[in-house]
Amino acid sequence: MYRLNDEQQQIVATAAAVADRDLAPRAASVDRDAAFPADSIAALGASGLLGLTVAKTHGGLGQGPRTVAAVIDAVAQRCPSTAMVYLMHLCGVACYTAAPDKTAPLLEAAAAGRHISTLAFSEKGSRSHFWAPVSRASASGNGAVSINAQKSFVTSAGHADGYVVSTQSAGATQPLESSIYVVLKEDAGVAVSGPWRGLGLRGNASAPMTLSNVSVGADRALTADGKGLDMMLGVVLPLFQVGSAAVGIGIAEAAVNATIGHVTHTRFEQSNSSLADLPTLRAQIARMRIDTDRARAHLGAVLDSLESPGPATQLMVLEAKASGTETAVAVTDMAMRACGGAAFGGAHGIERLFRDARAPIVMAPTSEVAYEFIGRALCGLEVF
Ligand SMILES: Cc1cc2nc3c(=O)[nH]c(=O)nc-3n(C[C@H](O)[C@H](O)[C@H](O)COP(=O)(O)OP(=O)(O)OC[C@H]3O[C@@H](n4cnc5c(N)ncnc54)[C@H](O)[C@@H]3O)c2cc1C
Repeated sequence: MYRLNDEQQQIVATAAAVADRDLAPRAASVDRDAAFPADSIAALGASGLLGLTVAKTHGGLGQGPRTVAAVIDAVAQRCPSTAMVYLMHLCGVACYTAAPDKTAPLLEAAAAGRHISTLAFSEKGSRSHFWAPVSRASASGNGAVSINAQKSFVTSAGHADGYVVSTQSAGATQPLESSIYVVLKEDAGVAVSGPWRGLGLRGNASAPMTLSNVSVGADRALTADGKGLDMMLGVVLPLFQVGSAAVGIGIAEAAVNATIGHVTHTRFEQSNSSLADLPTLRAQIARMRIDTDRARAHLGAVLDSLESPGPATQLMVLEAKASGTETAVAVTDMAMRACGGAAFGGAHGIERLFRDARAPIVMAPTSEVAYEFIGRALCGLEVF
């Protein structure tokens, strides 16, 4: 459904093989222990996949959103926690790519599998409204700034090498005037400030972080002063929307397959029949398949629109995450019902998928916020 060329198909096949070999066997323990999937990320890195979107001139695979969607979908089918860590890395790398003169060493390190990136946008003060940070940079001369910020959720907190941080610009007159900096894990004043205890995506270490007088030079500014919103909306949002949809679709795909596996192999001994002999369960599986295919087809249309932009592109990008992630919620709910007490008790990882599916819907822009933005655009109102 992603309509990939030969090179793209080869990359997705590699990702699926790595995910089968190195990610799937660890997915249950990553969830059970709420353990950051360091080995899984290392396996992606060893295959060059941390450089998926890095330009070939920097040693990467030079791919765009279409391949990102297909690879993330394949990874999420095997381990959703790893898929989200990977997506946040690719979003951080997209910000580096927008400022290549300053970030070449980071891009090359990512391509070589030696650098994990992430986004530190959400703040304790402005919550899911990531576009309006309440933290503020203080100018310390020659373009250098000092950053103090309370970040509420940062995927890969304490594990990432580079944090793409939003903050109000030093001269800002309102929260939409932000700038974006890259902060490195070794910078003084960077600390994980709380635990991550997620209902789902329990491996992705999305913990709060505090930046205390973190001093960064002008070489760490990824945007001009006051232009952070442009990067959030123009660089990060399209990739995050597409990638989050793909996480949801991968989770839904895994739930469909696990459900088929359960109902076709589970028997009623008293009647010598199987769960698959129940027409209601077969119909349930059909609905799950249709919903998953529909979301993947929608994502394909979003990718087409991104590649040939037109008047509908912005709206379709806004739709992508809600479409894919709400599908995952609906499909995993059907999987739980179809597989009954067995699923409730943990069989086939279906309840893990059910919990994992719920995380992306509250990641910003949350589904509710996306619906509000889409509704405003459809009614001819300003989105912000
Ligand atoms: C698993 C996970 C990983 C994350 N990873 C990262 C990360 O790597 N980097 C990062 O920066 N952030 C990350 N986040 C944070 C995420 O993007 C959101 O900022 C966070 O989940 C919002 O939670 P909150 O309690 O602050 O929501 P609140 O802002 O308190 O929202 C509460 C409710 O109000 C609704 N709401 C808010 N505003 C509106 C509106 N205008 N219209 C309609 N409804 C509205 C929301 O939809 C939600 O239902 C992560 C979150 C999770 C759960």
